[in-house]
Amino acid sequence: SDKNNIWHPFTQMADWLNDDPCKPLIIDRAKGSYLYDVDGKKYLDGISSLWVTLLGHKNPRIDKAVKKQIDKVSHTTFLGLTHKPAIDLSEKLLKILPDNLKKIFYSDDGSTAVEIALKMAYQYWQFKNEKRSFFLSLKNAYHGDTIGAVAVGGTDLFHSRFRSLLFKSFFAMSPYCYRCVYRKKEIKFPVTAENFKDHNIQMHCRGQCIKEVESILVKNNKKIAAAVIEPINQAAAGMIIMPKGYLKEYANLCNQYGIPLICDEVATGFGRTGKMFAVEHENIKPDFICLSKGITGGYMPLAVTATTNEIYSAFLGKYEEFKTFFHGHSYTANPLACTAANAVIDTLNQNKILQKLQSKIKHLEKELTSLLEHYRVGNIRHCGVMAGIEIVEDKKTGKPYDSKLKTGAKICANLRKHGIIIRNLGNTLVLFLHLTMTNRETSKIISAIKIELDNL
Ligand code: PMP
Repeated sequence: SDKNNIWHPFTQMADWLNDDPCKPLIIDRAKGSYLYDVDGKKYLDGISSLWVTLLGHKNPRIDKAVKKQIDKVSHTTFLGLTHKPAIDLSEKLLKILPDNLKKIFYSDDGSTAVEIALKMAYQYWQFKNEKRSFFLSLKNAYHGDTIGAVAVGGTDLFHSRFRSLLFKSFFAMSPYCYRCVYRKKEIKFPVTAENFKDHNIQMHCRGQCIKEVESILVKNNKKIAAAVIEPINQAAAGMIIMPKGYLKEYANLCNQYGIPLICDEVATGFGRTGKMFAVEHENIKPDFICLSKGITGGYMPLAVTATTNEIYSAFLGKYEEFKTFFHGHSYTANPLACTAANAVIDTLNQNKILQKLQSKIKHLEKELTSLLEHYRVGNIRHCGVMAGIEIVEDKKTGKPYDSKLKTGAKICANLRKHGIIIRNLGNTLVLFLHLTMTNRETSKIISAIKIELDNL
């Protein structure tokens, strides 16, 4: 059929499973929390369609706004032209972002939002007559698939084969408490619900991780153009939630060594962590915040790199100085996308979505705590509506369920039979819920996961 003409991401990985349900489903329509395939079968979307559809599918308010904008103008160049949706959106964003951020640079996907921040930071130092061509990142980091974003990516599976093509980054230890080398040596498994929440364990890991960041900065701070981090949660790494206070200490170190800080909120932005932006959890004020995914509620691609007046003003100068920032995409600041984003922010504010979300987060937490009792679940990490459930063979030692980490994908394939779509990152099952998901829908996903874990 026609679908064989399309090269899907991860296709070969799905083929390893030789399992029909893992082949692409042909989706026909969607509404609220559900996707429907061409045969009319209904699927509960537990990952917001790649972490994008923030307020559910076909949100009436966004629909209406976009339809109205189509009747006006669907696209214009952003080179020398602008439009009301982009102007309104910049005002709305600056009201909700940390108050040190004063400039909005538009582009069209999350990788590019990061890439732009890296390029801006690199140029910033050039204009100060310093050549800084390294970046600081974290092991397990994922910041997108374009070459710059890959260069600050610390996930072997995705990134290592490209290293010789890339500019250099320093990678500090990922704050992955569950598999932290120091904790394994010094504090023993098992990680039960109680002891994983143990403050001392988390503080021990945090101290070790931060020491690594500091030692890189002590030796190399004059070479580093910027540090890039996903605040609170390394999402694509399998929901690696940072120990409390880690982000603050990391930001303080960047500040101490004069390194601009880029916070990649492509996944965590717009309420997914329970606050509008993840940086608010530790009250940090980075020099850049990168946004995409949920910004349009899944209607159109759009991205934003927000930065400070200090960075912006480094780019001001006479024409001959050639200081301008070159990065213009065909679809930058698309008016339909900006319209959808305005409707998303209005809905978040006017419908008090984040206030209502708090009890849903508690419900999810309760469900996950009961799932942690399961003998195949080694660790559950969650923050807001994002969660990672790590499957293990032995709860006591944390031994992975299978060395090739295929079980996660198998479970996701089986969950389709229950009418549920979630994603796996290795043997971690990943939930990324719509902010509008009901408690009943959340419970349905957890119950189906339990059944599949029982069947292992
Ligand atoms: N940064 C983070 C934290 C992400 O999760 C992603 C996408 N999963 C990206 C960047 C890349 O975004 P995009 O796929 O829109 O390029």
